[in-house]
Amino acid sequence: MSLERLLQIQSIDVEIKQLRHRKKTLEQRDLLADAHTERASKQEAIDEVAARRVEAASRQRRLEDEAQTVADKAAADEKRLYSGEVGGMKDLQALQNEIAHLKQRQESIEDDELEAMEQAEALRAEVEKMEAACADLDHRIDVLSREISEAEHDIDAKLSALEVQREEMVPEVSPSMLAEYEQLRPTFGSATVVRFDGKNCVGCPSMMPSMEVDRLKHAESGTLEHCSECGRMVVN
Ligand SMILES: [Zn+2]
Repeated sequence: MSLERLLQIQSIDVEIKQLRHRKKTLEQRDLLADAHTERASKQEAIDEVAARRVEAASRQRRLEDEAQTVADKAAADEKRLYSGEVGGMKDLQALQNEIAHLKQRQESIEDDELEAMEQAEALRAEVEKMEAACADLDHRIDVLSREISEAEHDIDAKLSALEVQREEMVPEVSPSMLAEYEQLRPTFGSATVVRFDGKNCVGCPSMMPSMEVDRLKHAESGTLEHCSECGRMVVN
């Protein structure tokens, strides 16, 4: 009974190892990593355009302030022009020239401001377009993430069930046998405990010496022996 249980524990351990490997190497993981890389590079391009938009918008605000300052100055000059404070023709002429110059300057700044506004608007539209173009990719990322978490959940449930089964079997195996199994497992893996097929240890390619075969054949059934060639645990 004890040896049969040990064989069952071994097959559970094999299954647990396979499940853990499958969990670690789910094909969606690579696909998701690729999708994230692609998304990051698209985001970088979006951020670059968005930064240009911010720059254009702040240039627009700066030009707006500048135009206002010039307009205020022209208004103050006009006030002076009509206030009667300025007397001589020459001064009046100079003031008029100054006002004309300021108005020209204001117009030129306002042209630049309009240009900056149009640039900011075009860049904003471009950002929106680029973000919309990421929709499919974002969807793919969502789907892959969900598939991974579902697969993980599924594998974890199987692992828990197997671990419970294993725990239930452990008390039915002698502690020294189990300890030996655990000790040899890193070396022999899924074939740490093997059956004796009547002629040989099924775990290794070596031929057992005939004396050894004889000995095993005559050993009591259900006893634990060791392969003299490889050292595996052999269930007779
Ligand atoms: Zn062997």
